[in-house]
Amino acid sequence: MTKKIKKPVIAGNWKMHKGPAATREFALALAPLIPKGSGATIILFPPAISLTTALSTLEETGIAEQVEVGAQNIHWEDEGAFTGEISAEMAREVGASYALIGHSERRHLFGETNDETSLKVRAALQNELRPMICVGETKEEREEGRLEEVITTQLVAAIEGLEKGEIEQIAIAYEPVWAIGTGLTATPDDAAEAHQILRNKLAQAIGTTGAEGVPILYGGSVRPENAADLCAANEVDGLLIGGASLQPESFAAIIEAATKG
Ligand code: PEP
Repeated sequence: MTKKIKKPVIAGNWKMHKGPAATREFALALAPLIPKGSGATIILFPPAISLTTALSTLEETGIAEQVEVGAQNIHWEDEGAFTGEISAEMAREVGASYALIGHSERRHLFGETNDETSLKVRAALQNELRPMICVGETKEEREEGRLEEVITTQLVAAIEGLEKGEIEQIAIAYEPVWAIGTGLTATPDDAAEAHQILRNKLAQAIGTTGAEGVPILYGGSVRPENAADLCAANEVDGLLIGGASLQPESFAAIIEAATKG
């Protein structure tokens, strides 16, 4: 059993929810719910248009040191004729410290490929954003016994050619596609199995000690009721939460459950 990374990483992916006004409202409501020194690394991924408001309101409420902010998606070029896109450089300029890369909605709804994911990881690292790389199998792939093949292919494509020091900057989110937004959750054993596969792959690339330092989060229908068990599972270093991160109360309850475990 691998040693647990001490502080769980609890991240909220808001997807296409919350413009600046709702973001401000959320941050104001979240602040009193998070005890100082909550024992978790907390990250919010609001829509790009709300990044600045998220950062300024977290600052105003005094929880900016406890809650980091990331972009849900970036383009790999710094600038250019890419209508509708934002670059890693731009996200960094407004104060983001993470970039979510390869979320299954980007892969399945917008056709993002492993090659594009790899370019985005590099762009993030070059611009001092920590990439949180999402991997996960569909229901069909799981039923065909292809879990290991699918998630290792996605991981290897994302980190191939990176230096050890760069791989040590990443975080990984294992998010089985069949569990995202469906109410179906992987069992703690399912999560542990997939996380072990990912940890082994990382260890092949950067050694056991380096691999132990890379947070591997579980995501897929996490709720306050299942957060403690999932977060306590072997090799699970934190949680990536979609739906249940939209309400400050449920997000704070998940943080509390994860840090108690
Ligand atoms: C996600 O969007 O990354 C996610 C895990 O969503 P949900 O928690 O709603 O399943």
